[in-house]
Amino acid sequence: MKHAKLLPGYLAQRYHGWKATAYEDNKAWYRRLASEGQHPRAMVISCCDSRVHVTSIFGAEQGEFFIHRNIANLIPPYAPDGDHHGTSAAIEYAVNALKVAHVIVLGHSSCGGVAGCHDMCEGHAPELEEATSFVGRWMDILRPGYERVKDIQDEAERRTALEKEAVLVSLENLMGFPFVAEAVKAGDLSIHGLWNDIGNGGLECYDPATNEFSAV
Ligand SMILES: [Zn+2]
Repeated sequence: MKHAKLLPGYLAQRYHGWKATAYEDNKAWYRRLASEGQHPRAMVISCCDSRVHVTSIFGAEQGEFFIHRNIANLIPPYAPDGDHHGTSAAIEYAVNALKVAHVIVLGHSSCGGVAGCHDMCEGHAPELEEATSFVGRWMDILRPGYERVKDIQDEAERRTALEKEAVLVSLENLMGFPFVAEAVKAGDLSIHGLWNDIGNGGLECYDPATNEFSAV
């Protein structure tokens, strides 16, 4: 692969800083993680967005979370069609092999992917409607969510509601995976929906009793 280059200097420098401090101070812990394998209690599915800092929010250490990130924290419908399904593969591994106790879908404010879906559904993003747009076709997953929020008049409110729909549509699709539904029914797995307000550090959790997200 002749196109790959060596790591930029600033990243190499940061790495050496980590190795000399955080790693050096916890060497035994890292060695234990390496020899005993991973036993995370939870899987977190979050957006790729660089502002969503999953491990910081929960003060998580290495080995605690099995994390999958994609555009707009979406879980696609169960589709065992022999195609390449990265998110579904991660869910299958977390639930069937790692036997995590929780799957958490974490949405967030000012999500670019959700905004794209919103604009596409309102006819303002023709580039996302192209068959060749990976983002557009991925965001099709959220179209049923848009149908549920399209009548909200205030645009900012509608966009936030769609961000929360990204979490709910994902949880609905998650339950369509037979091994997930089975694990939930057996009481071995619980699923959770969260939404993080980046600007004020807020965290809301979906409550099925009220059908709303409320502050944690
Ligand atoms: Zn996002």
